[in-house]
Amino acid sequence: MFTISGRTVSIMHYKKNEKNSEPFQEKCNIVRNVPSNLSTSRPKPSKCFPLCIGGSSLALGKSTSVNKRSCDTLRCTSCDFRVVSFNDFQWHKDTDYLFLRNNAPDFDRLKPKLKSKQGSRSYCCQCCHKTMDSLTEIRDLPVKWVCGNH
Ligand SMILES: [Zn+2]
Ligand SMILES: [Zn+2]
Repeated sequence: MFTISGRTVSIMHYKKNEKNSEPFQEKCNIVRNVPSNLSTSRPKPSKCFPLCIGGSSLALGKSTSVNKRSCDTLRCTSCDFRVVSFNDFQWHKDTDYLFLRNNAPDFDRLKPKLKSKQGSRSYCCQCCHKTMDSLTEIRDLPVKWVCGNH
């Protein structure tokens, strides 16, 4: 019983004092919503560097300078949607902004503009699309995609 935290004691206290229940409950909830892991040493979220995408043979995950991968947490800062990718597909050449806007990121709805192509990986958000065949750094592409941490 000596290990009960101050937080738990407060809640028990509240139950006994029903007269003041309303404000006390509010106070308790605020206290309980504070993340309890702030002081623990969890690994910090980390971003890909360099940030890459590539063909379907390129592994998905976090990219480092010695182990380049296709980032799987990509997000577009232009349309604020996550970037999805499809292995062994390429985008039809008339895929446009409006089509993506209406259909991404649902594969079944995007399918009409996806053509099967071994080795390629097609990427899109709701405003732009890319077909990749080989490893490419995103800074060399005209897209505003960023790593969303790993
Ligand atoms: Zn990443
Ligand atoms: Zn976008």
